[in-house]
Amino acid sequence: MRILVTGGAGFIGSHLCERLLAEGHHVLCLDNFLTGDEENIAHLISNRSFELIRQSIVDSLELNGSLDTILHFASPASPPDYLKHPIETLKVGSIGTLNALELAKSKKAKFLLASTSEVYGDPLVHPQPESYWGNVSSIGPRSVYDEAKRFSEALTMAYHRAHGLDTRIVRIFNTFGPRMRKEDGRAIPNFITQALSGRPITVYGNGSQTRSFCYISDLVEGIRRLMDFNFHDPVNLGNPEEKTLLDLAKIIVRLTRSPSPLVFQPLPTDDPKQRCPQIQQARQKLNWAPKISLEDGLKETIAWFSKGIV
Ligand code: UDP
Repeated sequence: MRILVTGGAGFIGSHLCERLLAEGHHVLCLDNFLTGDEENIAHLISNRSFELIRQSIVDSLELNGSLDTILHFASPASPPDYLKHPIETLKVGSIGTLNALELAKSKKAKFLLASTSEVYGDPLVHPQPESYWGNVSSIGPRSVYDEAKRFSEALTMAYHRAHGLDTRIVRIFNTFGPRMRKEDGRAIPNFITQALSGRPITVYGNGSQTRSFCYISDLVEGIRRLMDFNFHDPVNLGNPEEKTLLDLAKIIVRLTRSPSPLVFQPLPTDDPKQRCPQIQQARQKLNWAPKISLEDGLKETIAWFSKGIV
């Protein structure tokens, strides 16, 4: 297959490119490197089945030749990144998604949207099933990402209904692993880099908020299965093992044998208090469940971050 991955030089995008190349597909990786990183795809550049297109999907894109599938992963995705790039985030979720869908329509390609657990906002239903409509602020700081992704979902369903486009929507919950940027500001890269360099571990609020962390290889496997499964409604992918942020910080301190103290800092505005995926649909339809435990995934991630921090 000839597959376009938008955001292909990002954390998740680059792991997807790698997996698809390993399966023998031809991969077009589109990235404007706003939050993507050349390093993530450096080992793929010499592969003759890999092509890099340096541009944003917000700018119109004309491609020669056939295209079988588009995986639309382009977007800033960490809260500090989308707070720093609010307009770019809204543009890539709206104009970017429109351009990607138009391309899929003209090429008669399958289209898979990377959506997010942020569509549930600060959820009032726990754990979150796909049927939950969410509790989202349309004007708060996180709205630039949350509403862009909600719009992307709406647009994807509209193309499916109006044009019969063969679409998929994956709602990705917190995912971690090698190739997260150490400065991307999310909890796991922050805690690991702080622990490895002996700096204080910054827990926001009192650390009682929860998240559920999925290792990257599990996520990629789920996405791969969803690509091949004929189903158009959103599917949650994430690890249902829920942890408080305080527990996460303590686990990372223990695994790194770090002398770092924990320090408590203000909770960001609209920070969701709890988040955990209900993954019944993925279990039943895709026969998928995460295999890597939080601790095993953290060990791999710590080993990877250790290489960059001397
Ligand atoms: N967080 C924290 N310390 C940090 C970074 C994040 O306590 O240095 C908290 C953050 O407030 C949130 C949780 O960790 O409650 C997960 O944040 P992250 O940015 O990783 O992703 P989110 O789930 O908010 O998109």
